[in-house]
Amino acid sequence: MFEDRTCLVTGGSRGIGRAIAEELGGKGANVVVNYRSSEAKAAAVVEAIDGTDGAAMAAQADVAEYDQVEAMRDAVHDRFGAIDVLINNAGITADKRFEEMTREDWDRVIDVNLGGTFNCTHCFFEDVRSSEEGRLINVSSVVGQQGNYGQANYATTKSGLFGFTRTLALELASEGSTANCVAPGFVDTGMLEIVPERVQEKILRRIPLGRFARPEDVAGIVRFLAGEDSRYMTGQVLGINGGMEW
Ligand code: NAP
Repeated sequence: MFEDRTCLVTGGSRGIGRAIAEELGGKGANVVVNYRSSEAKAAAVVEAIDGTDGAAMAAQADVAEYDQVEAMRDAVHDRFGAIDVLINNAGITADKRFEEMTREDWDRVIDVNLGGTFNCTHCFFEDVRSSEEGRLINVSSVVGQQGNYGQANYATTKSGLFGFTRTLALELASEGSTANCVAPGFVDTGMLEIVPERVQEKILRRIPLGRFARPEDVAGIVRFLAGEDSRYMTGQVLGINGGMEW
């Protein structure tokens, strides 16, 4: 399925995005590794994929900036043509208790996590819709389901992706393309590293499987959603959270 398929992973330079990019590249896809500032890390992901059956290109763009996403689309079209799979993975946190959260903290997270999803989906919508079995995959979080202390801005963006996914599922369905969402629990990446250790220990006690997810745990499910076996599944949210309740 992935040979002759082009997949764009936003935030593909590190963490979960990197694992997704390498998973799809390893299965023969053309992969676009988007990043904002980690040029060397994105180049390393491209090199890793080029050593497999897949092919890859790095594409710098701040997903929060519409004109940068448009320029990325042009560069991608020049190299690979239209994409088949868009994975909206790029995301940030700016954690603070609500009473201390500034409007700037709020806007920054909304601009990247939701604004970036709008920009990328808007710029690549026609690609995904007209692809034979196009796929839109949004990376949400268990925090969008449960809420989380100190993450009013982040949780709001991750809940927002549920409504976005369901709506895009309806708007893509007439051409046989799908939109789904993954909601990972707590994953061992740079995003978790900045959480204080005592908070990490508290979180760990709430995970029945007794460990944080590895990026590969998420990448395998995204590969399923990107592939042909998920063809009759759309508008869904898949939890990947070690059994946490929500
Ligand atoms: P991460 O290790 O911090 O990596 C974030 C990635 O997003 C990097 O590649 C970064 O690029 C990119 N990025 C950030 N802002 C960007 C922007 N404005 N434009 C383009 N790229 C941008 O994060 P992660 O843990 O892998 O998280 C990936 C996704 O999974 C996020 O949406 C996050 O909310 C979600 N998630 C994470 C967890 C978790 O526990 N880690 C749990 C559930 C869901 P640069 O390297 O260039 O900065």
